[in-house]
Amino acid sequence: MNTISEQRLVGRLPKSAWTVISTLEAAGYEAWAVGGWVRDGLLGHDGHDVDVTTSAPWQKTESVLRAAGIEVHETGAKHGTVTAVVDGDPIETTTYRVEGSYSDMRHPDEVRFVTDVREDLARRDFTVNAMAWHPERGLLDPFGGRRDLEQGVIRAVGNPTERFGEDALRILRAVRFACRMCFAIEPATQQALVACAPELDLIARERVGQEMDGILKSGHAAWALRSEFDVLARAVPELAPLRGFDQRNPHHEFDLLEHTARTCEGVEEFTGGCAAQALRWAALFHDVEKPSCATEGEDGAWHYLGHPTESAKTARRVMERLAIPKGECARASALITLHDRELSASPRSVRRLLAAIERLCPGEAPQLAFELLDLMRADLLAKGVPEAERLAQVDAFELALRAELAQGATFRVKDLAVSGCDVMREAGVKPGPAVGEALRGLLDDVVAGKVPNEKGALLARLRERS
Ligand code: ATP
Ligand code: MG
Repeated sequence: MNTISEQRLVGRLPKSAWTVISTLEAAGYEAWAVGGWVRDGLLGHDGHDVDVTTSAPWQKTESVLRAAGIEVHETGAKHGTVTAVVDGDPIETTTYRVEGSYSDMRHPDEVRFVTDVREDLARRDFTVNAMAWHPERGLLDPFGGRRDLEQGVIRAVGNPTERFGEDALRILRAVRFACRMCFAIEPATQQALVACAPELDLIARERVGQEMDGILKSGHAAWALRSEFDVLARAVPELAPLRGFDQRNPHHEFDLLEHTARTCEGVEEFTGGCAAQALRWAALFHDVEKPSCATEGEDGAWHYLGHPTESAKTARRVMERLAIPKGECARASALITLHDRELSASPRSVRRLLAAIERLCPGEAPQLAFELLDLMRADLLAKGVPEAERLAQVDAFELALRAELAQGATFRVKDLAVSGCDVMREAGVKPGPAVGEALRGLLDDVVAGKVPNEKGALLARLRERS
């Protein structure tokens, strides 16, 4: 066990937060740093925003801080929150409160202000998030959060079933914090997670999306797939068919859920734990429609024709429903669409792949091509059977990709040595959609190596065509 002393917090509080706390206290109120900053600080991590909790009603917080020359914004006054800005640092300052239900992304529908900080801490979700710190009064930890940090445990404050009943989002938050901190979930809290998972159906989809995104961002989605699948499959029902799906194919050792978990692990391994977020989403969903695409071959093995396209469609639909930014949805969907493509390390094949990515995600082809190769590697390793030859193909392709990019590969219309004007003026193409068509046709020819990317040759090719 790793001993965690509150001494770790001494001297850590940023000056801006101390200004807010001391100004409120000089006016006769009480104030503390609370939540994520205390938790992360005890773990020795800097950089989390400081949230302040105070006995001052928010109107008083505002007037006291403004009288001291501090800029204040009413960012969530209905819920007791104002944001003070000190030396450019935003400090969310919230009146001690207890709360009712949540129906939007972040804020409870109604709150009741209270006078005792302990009541405020008691409404918080997990013991590790329910501690307050004051530079003079020290750590206030009524629920054993410091001990749970030492032991690496996520434990609900109070009765877990009641707490998840109040706000089912806490179920996903538990999984996200466990993933992020590599913590275990305490047994009673775990039981309640599973028992209450159906209540996730009531949670706004974008709140679910934020938590799913956080679980993926932790880099430990594989743990969540293996240990908390009941929760994940309730949050995203499209994942449910992964569990227990036997791929019945000599190229696969594991069921689809374990294969997916290994693919999620693999993308982290190949990127040193810094996988792009779209790559993480792609790993999660890359084979999600295999069960619906399964057909039995004459050899008795099962095949999954068309599963990349179908999985990409499902991924995009789910991600859009969860309000994941559009660009992320498009990138993940492109990676999934292409994840099963055969690779050969020729310049032509490299240009073809770049052009295919460019059509799906304009302007992003080079970056996504490297991400795609990491997805392919992770997918191959996750099969659990030796795939040395195919892994070597991916490596060879990567070398060819680097070489082709270094010499200015042609894979976009704008890379062509002719413009729309050239096409109209010198090859007599009429203005309108025909210009774009002509350029795209030329691009296909250059990508395929049928004509060099030189102005004279391209115009000759066009004239020859018309
Ligand atoms: P993160 O690093 O993810 O932002 P955080 O601890 O700051 O972690 P927030 O979501 O910003 O988490 O919330 C701040 C604090 O508010 C939490 O530490 C917790 O005490 C409390 N909190 C937030 N959401 C809930 C919730 N749904 N139920 C109960 N308490 C919550
Ligand atoms: Mg926070």
